Formats: sequence, structure tokens, C-alpha cells
Amino acid sequence: MTVNIDHLELEIPCPSCGQEAKQTIGRLKQSPVLICRAGHQFEADPESLRKLIQTAQENIDRLARNLSKTIQF
Ligand SMILES: [Zn+2]
Repeated sequence: MTVNIDHLELEIPCPSCGQEAKQTIGRLKQSPVLICRAGHQFEADPESLRKLIQTAQENIDRLARNLSKTIQF
């Protein structure tokens, strides 16, 4: 079972000021550009981004599996 996580937001710290910049996973898959709250525009490292998205996907899938075990319809 795979859950679509494209609408979820990732928080990535800005390399210039350290403030968190948020962007949805769907957008980041298309273009890894983020803008922090201070207005800095930066690109997420593609390798770390890939790992972040993979980890998020695994966590959500595990959660969904556990939920479907617990809830009986
Ligand atoms: Zn910044």
C-alpha cells in the first residue's frame, strides 16, 4: 500500500539564515527550490531531498499499514 504524500509539506532549513522553509513534496519533486521566511531563495540538495521524501513515504506507509490493521470495517 502506497499513500500519496505529494500534498505534505517538508521543512528544510535555509542555508543563509537557518529559518525553516516549507514546500509541498509534490512541488519539490518538480523543482527543489524553496523560499524561507526571510525571503532567501535556495535549492535543496537533491540527494538529501530524495532521502527526506523516501523517509517520509516509508513512515506514512507504515502508519497506514498499522492503521488498516487496527481499524476494522
Ligand atoms: Zn533564509
